[in-house]
Amino acid sequence: MQLDISTGRVVIVGAGQAGAELAGALRSQGFAGSITLLGDERYPPYRRPPLSKAFLAGEVSLESLYLKTADAYEKQGIQCMLGTAVERIDRDAHRICLADGSVLPYDKLGLATGGRARKLPLPGATHSNVHYVRNIEDIQRLRTQFEAGRRLVIIGGGYIGLETASVAVKAGLHVCVIEGLPRVLARVTVPEISAYYESVHRARGVEIRTGVGVRALDGARKVEALVLTDGQRVDADLVVIGIGLVPNTELAEAAGLEVSNGIVVDAHLLTSDPDIVACGDCTFHENVFYQRRMRLESVPNALEQARVAAANMIGKPAAYSAVPWFWSDQYDLKLQMVGLSEGFDQFVVRGAMEKDRFVAFYLREGVVISADAVNRPQEFMVAKRLVAERVKVDAARLIDESSSLKDVMADIAHARIAQI
Ligand SMILES: Cc1cc2nc3c(=O)[nH]c(=O)nc-3n(C[C@H](O)[C@H](O)[C@H](O)COP(=O)(O)OP(=O)(O)OC[C@H]3O[C@@H](n4cnc5c(N)ncnc54)[C@H](O)[C@@H]3O)c2cc1C
Repeated sequence: MQLDISTGRVVIVGAGQAGAELAGALRSQGFAGSITLLGDERYPPYRRPPLSKAFLAGEVSLESLYLKTADAYEKQGIQCMLGTAVERIDRDAHRICLADGSVLPYDKLGLATGGRARKLPLPGATHSNVHYVRNIEDIQRLRTQFEAGRRLVIIGGGYIGLETASVAVKAGLHVCVIEGLPRVLARVTVPEISAYYESVHRARGVEIRTGVGVRALDGARKVEALVLTDGQRVDADLVVIGIGLVPNTELAEAAGLEVSNGIVVDAHLLTSDPDIVACGDCTFHENVFYQRRMRLESVPNALEQARVAAANMIGKPAAYSAVPWFWSDQYDLKLQMVGLSEGFDQFVVRGAMEKDRFVAFYLREGVVISADAVNRPQEFMVAKRLVAERVKVDAARLIDESSSLKDVMADIAHARIAQI
């Protein structure tokens, strides 16, 4: 169905970064019909990254997390229905059904349902001193127990676990991270970067145990110790679980949409129903740049997908081709990563890891396919271009600090022009 740009009705399920951006992008791209944004959390759309960083540290207010004020949505004619869970999509009747029995008709529907923290399937995981790090309430609850001198055990050595560790150590807690794989960040980076982050954390007092899982949570009314798969016990006053995300796909699945590791969407963010788009953490999407499907959990992905989805909703064909990128803040280290390093055949480092300022490049057949930058934001911007433009470059030039990366990029551009 073609969406009438003046009188059409758009309903968006999920008021996170993707849902809010989808609503805003529809307006900025010229859609003048009605937009209803529904979210089951009671807060206006907010940023999640500070939850494991400045908000957990108590350095920023709750309001600073909000993407926009309530007025701003009103001014844009976006009706926000917060604290409202969508229970069912009736695709035949083109309407959604809410818990109180009411229904909302749509011409086009956007699904931006994100994901939820993966639960630890062990008895004791629901005790009051066991925590997850996904939403505002998780952090408000965790902060009441975040006291100097307490023993915090973090299950999971991914970004969320390590960011939480860095805030906790600064707050004076004794921190132990348990990671089942042989190294931290194993799913997202190479052994060199994992080793770097392990040494960073250990140097600041975090105990890291890798290659060992959790067999049991011990304690009658609250967890007092963790029993590891190697039989060792680790005493705990509180526990944080950071073992990944489960995409919220149930609504889509029940409506008969194709789902597989996320809501399946094509390069235009269209689901298997042409009147329904999806964007953000919940999508298993076709990425034109990589020519394959993937699911990503990052703010840049949520925002860019939302803009592409908005364009397609209003009949301006656009394809999602962004190169994935992500950041993580731990202590005074800003890590920025671009591209996917899978299949690299060369790994080089510009700068010194021991000085906490470097860019690691991953190349395949001489082409830069990915980069991780620590405390080098300007060079990261150039690295992003190198990856996006699939630039072939001599690795020796990348690591030669006597010339700037900008110069390297400029030389490549000149050489390309000379070839034309
Ligand atoms: C602690 C933490 C730190 C992070 N740090 C970074 C970082 O440093 N850099 C980075 O790039 N990314 C980071 N991320 C990831 C980033 O926040 C997510 O990728 C982004 O929030 C995804 O947005 P989204 O809108 O797709 O999903 P979400 O933010 O999950 O929003 C989806 C919303 O939809 C709601 N919803 C689901 N089902 C329904 C329903 N049936 N009815 C109504 N509402 C529903 C959900 O409750 C939720 O509010 C972090 C995430 C977390 C949790």
